[in-house]
Amino acid sequence: MTVIHFSRGIPPREAIPSAAISECTAALLSTEADRVFQYAPIGRHTGDQELREQLGKFHSVDPDRLFVTNGSLQALDLLAAHLLRDTAEPQVLVEAPTYDRAVQIFERHGARVSGVPLRHDGIDLDVLKERLRTDVPAFVYLIPDFQNPSGVTTSEDKRRELVRLSAEYGFTILEDIPYRGLRLGGTAPTSLAELADSTDGARVLTIGSLSKVLSPGLRVGYVIGPADMPRALAVLAESTYLSPAPLLQAVAAQALSHGLVRENIERVRELLRPRHDAAVEAVRQKLGDVHLCVPEGGYYISVHLPVHTDEVSFLTAARDDGLALTRGSAFYPADAAPPPGTVFLRLPFQALDPEEFAEGVRRLAAAAERAE
Ligand code: PMP
Repeated sequence: MTVIHFSRGIPPREAIPSAAISECTAALLSTEADRVFQYAPIGRHTGDQELREQLGKFHSVDPDRLFVTNGSLQALDLLAAHLLRDTAEPQVLVEAPTYDRAVQIFERHGARVSGVPLRHDGIDLDVLKERLRTDVPAFVYLIPDFQNPSGVTTSEDKRRELVRLSAEYGFTILEDIPYRGLRLGGTAPTSLAELADSTDGARVLTIGSLSKVLSPGLRVGYVIGPADMPRALAVLAESTYLSPAPLLQAVAAQALSHGLVRENIERVRELLRPRHDAAVEAVRQKLGDVHLCVPEGGYYISVHLPVHTDEVSFLTAARDDGLALTRGSAFYPADAAPPPGTVFLRLPFQALDPEEFAEGVRRLAAAAERAE
């Protein structure tokens, strides 16, 4: 039996324009080899200048508000170090479920990470407000578009309220948006950063990445924030790794300036559309109404699957049926869990053809039935 992998959220090979990136690299090396094989300029380096200009254009922001990192994971690490530095026992609030590596990073920097339940349209605001009454966190970490792991997009109304709460209580919002460009239908809600621009006192930092729209191997992530933020992060960066690799930053800048990212986003959307539609259909047909939302983009659909057994036994049985699944409870911070009597399953659809996905869901349904 061939194993069906509902596991990692990595771009499928065909979503990475390797040949075009290679061409950009060759063109770049014909003129810029001496520069990119040297250290980046020392002294509060905030990223390759051309790359920051290109990313600034891409997001319609001033390049002085941008700081480039080695993938957005490093942005999370530096921001955690920066935002948690002077607080004793800082608290961080996250959606439950959320991106597991982010939780690990925040905890490594000394945060007590607490989960607020995620609904089909974003974080539960009643629970959030209740928490804010007793304890104001150092920051709230959100993945508002096609969330990893659930696929949920935060609604416009909830975004407005979140930004208002940020101003009222004085906490920072980190919005992590690696999947935002991969929308397949409907209208994109306004970004939290844009809403914050017109809300006095609200503070939103945006974390972006080229991993899902160009190439994860280039390791290009970035932070967009107020103009004082890049310099603060540069101090931290300079004392550990100096700068991201000049070659990779320059390749990314070249790809952006040639329109390769926009072009690739269109291609990836076309690639994802049938996979998304088939995934939604297969889950509805074979598992019923257990999905957290219809994603309309990104990589993931997810379910709270009712089972009469524990997670470990369920995953072991599913593995024997040829299913590779990620442990869903790992996406919950320590003080949160899926609803009782269910297991949480992230089902990435980006790399599976429709038949394969449907077969995987058929096996899941059979495993769930047996576990009753
Ligand atoms: N944030 C989220 C929400 C992610 O899903 C991922 C990757 N799966 C990352 C950050 C890290 O991406 P990268 O470091 O490749 O930019």
